[in-house]
Amino acid sequence: MNTGNSNDPRRTPGQGLTKEEALRRILEGHWRYLENRRTQKDVTPQRLQEHAEGQYPFAAILGCADSRVSPELIFDQDQGDLFVVRVAGNILGAGGLGSIEYAVDQLAVRLILVFGHEQCGAVRAAIDHVTAPGAIGFLLGELAEAVDVARSLPPPLLDRAVEANVRRVTQLLPQRSEVIGRAVAEGRVRIVGAVYRLGSGDVDILDLRDPGANAQAQ
Ligand SMILES: [Zn+2]
Repeated sequence: MNTGNSNDPRRTPGQGLTKEEALRRILEGHWRYLENRRTQKDVTPQRLQEHAEGQYPFAAILGCADSRVSPELIFDQDQGDLFVVRVAGNILGAGGLGSIEYAVDQLAVRLILVFGHEQCGAVRAAIDHVTAPGAIGFLLGELAEAVDVARSLPPPLLDRAVEANVRRVTQLLPQRSEVIGRAVAEGRVRIVGAVYRLGSGDVDILDLRDPGANAQAQ
């Protein structure tokens, strides 16, 4: 692991944040977004050179590929702050899981945010049992269980399925990955599910329980 320049907290693993501080930084950035006062981004040659020397993100995000749901904008974070995996329906495939494992194990991110959104076309297609050629079928198959859960919940079905899918993926991450499961149990990383509301720009956090809250963070 690259330990970085300890003089600048932004150049240390996880940017030197606790998992609670990482979540707060995400939420504070979102408030700036909602108030339409996103901060100016620093693209000076010096900053670019720092990026070239290494990355020190403090959070990993598994979000949908939808063009309207860009985490760096919605959470007003800079280049190098977020380790972002985007795939339609924010499903958990092997590539995404390996990427997030890397972020936890090698980059020491403090937070994993599973980030769904309203009016998700992938989730809608899974509800409608769209039959699609090629790899889209795999993608929709990954969403089927959440759609089944949502059918037993109060309408609207699409909203419930989006939420059920986020909850399912937050639960699957530590189950499917020993690396992530251990990091959560030891209190080194926290997994949070959230849904972006397209019309208002709001982000609803679905569950703030932290199973590793009482563990000794490292
Ligand atoms: Zn989507």
